[in-house]
Amino acid sequence: MQREMKKTQFIKGIGVTPGIIIGKAYLLDRGKIEAPARVIPESHTPQEVARFRDAVEESKKQLRQAKEKLLHEEATGLTYILDTHLLLLEDKNLIDNTIETIRQSWINSEWALKINLERLHKIFSNIDDEYLKSRKTDIDHIGERILRNLMGEDKEAIHQIKEEVIIVSHDLSPADTAQMAKDKVTAFVTDIGGKTSHTAIMARSLEIPAVVGSETATHYINTGDALIVDGMTGVVVVNPSAEILREYVERQKGRQKMERELFQYRDLPAETLDGYRVKVLANIELVEEIPSVLQHGAEGIGLYRTEYLYLNRKDLPSEEDHFQAYKQVVEGISPHAAVIRTLDIGGDKFLSHLELAEEMNPAMGLRAVRFSLKEVDIFKVQLRAMLRASAFGKVKLLFPMISGATEIREVKKILNEVRLGLSAEGIPFDSRTEIGIMIEVPSAVTIADILAREVDFFSIGTNDLIQYSLAIDRVNESVTHLYEPLHPAILRLVRDVVQAAHQAGIRVAMCGEMAGEPLYIPILLGLELDELSMNVFSIFRVKKILRSYTHRECKNLVRASLHLSTPGEIEDLVLASLRQKFPEEFGEDFNYRLKLNEYKKGE
Ligand code: PEP
Ligand code: MG
Repeated sequence: MQREMKKTQFIKGIGVTPGIIIGKAYLLDRGKIEAPARVIPESHTPQEVARFRDAVEESKKQLRQAKEKLLHEEATGLTYILDTHLLLLEDKNLIDNTIETIRQSWINSEWALKINLERLHKIFSNIDDEYLKSRKTDIDHIGERILRNLMGEDKEAIHQIKEEVIIVSHDLSPADTAQMAKDKVTAFVTDIGGKTSHTAIMARSLEIPAVVGSETATHYINTGDALIVDGMTGVVVVNPSAEILREYVERQKGRQKMERELFQYRDLPAETLDGYRVKVLANIELVEEIPSVLQHGAEGIGLYRTEYLYLNRKDLPSEEDHFQAYKQVVEGISPHAAVIRTLDIGGDKFLSHLELAEEMNPAMGLRAVRFSLKEVDIFKVQLRAMLRASAFGKVKLLFPMISGATEIREVKKILNEVRLGLSAEGIPFDSRTEIGIMIEVPSAVTIADILAREVDFFSIGTNDLIQYSLAIDRVNESVTHLYEPLHPAILRLVRDVVQAAHQAGIRVAMCGEMAGEPLYIPILLGLELDELSMNVFSIFRVKKILRSYTHRECKNLVRASLHLSTPGEIEDLVLASLRQKFPEEFGEDFNYRLKLNEYKKGE
């Protein structure tokens, strides 16, 4: 691909942290480095192994230094990512096998490392889970670091950057991100990476506007190029014309003004003009997100995904590991409640210590509660810790992927055994802890009335419910355009769940991505959800919208939508209503965003 200079280019990636940044590019092209491949005499293998071990040790030293820096900056919560990398440097699959390859094949370290990295890569490529797949990049980052140390390459020093820049890189490791001086690096853009990559998580936590997965940024951008990075829409403009620059400066001012105005919603109740009250809650994956949750005025944690506790480690988390994490979350969010979800992992092959079989169809396989009911001992460890945490604040237990009443009854039976065990040991817990289920499998919708008799609350997981009911793989790029939250079928499913829940007198929340998307809010209010749980960045916007509608208007929108035939027709209806109330937010800028998404879909 030809580099195009000084011509305005639009690049579309995945927006990670909202904010428009205008600045100069600093190309830190860390594209793959070539590893030399040499055969060595057998007598040289001990020196070669020693050379490899030195490079591994040097890599560990560098990571420990990056970790020190984070600790120094009180970004302690993020050091776990570097710990993951340090752990990989101890990994038998990578380190010992590479040494074995050097000894057995009489080849140089770089070549042996490359062979073993490729082998691990293949294993990860076969995993059908976006989150786990993105862990492949952790291995790449470690491989590249060892390779650079083997080859004595100068490390590009992000921390030595002297002026304000926007970093553009093929990829950035979490260690690179951690080293960014926040006053110098105003934003970053990478070719690869997804929403759930560690680098994205790090950027969100450090609140650095970023666009990942742009695919082509390093092809088009040179150091010194003028750049506009829109961390909300995922758009990067390279060498913008004077007109586009003006437009973005205006847009930036508009957004900054909007952000300032939005802050007022922090402490305002989430209620419609005619007093219909919903709870706005936060989705979290890490304990470290609690300060941000509080800053955004969430009324509790609506979904704490506990998968992270099981990832990035060689063994299973102990009851104490679970307990410490839950206790921090529960105490941090008190007096509000924390909904903690039990393990929901798909494509479980990653958890090598669990030795699970490969599956043809992991999304429909042994995931979530099915796994917990099979591995009861592992399940009980988590349940004990959750109940113990309930002695320190309000905890609600949430069980994922329930498809029928038998499963929830089995869960309750096990939970009772755990309760009895704790009581016998004299360990305190709240005996009235509520239990709820995720409604994310179509069968659960169909029998929602039956399930509602078994539990205290429902939480609708639209990410999976849409996947299973529309038969759209949520991680397959080629069908994302069919992933339609406003599909009439989805609206009917949500309507039926809410009706069943309310008839049984229980509350119903939504915690899939749909719940935090401003466009869907009037519909979700009209559908009478009691709670909406979302990414913290969405909270102010959602409150703003819901405070501008009457409940009657929302119900009318739903009534009209349910008579329409296609997602497009429903979207037009909702958008027209939003545009009347918020001409700025849902005007041209919003269209532009949809258009770019369209463009991305059509690629
Ligand atoms: C969902 O499916 O909507 C959900 C919230 O769960 P997850 O995204 O973790 O599968
Ligand atoms: Mg789900």
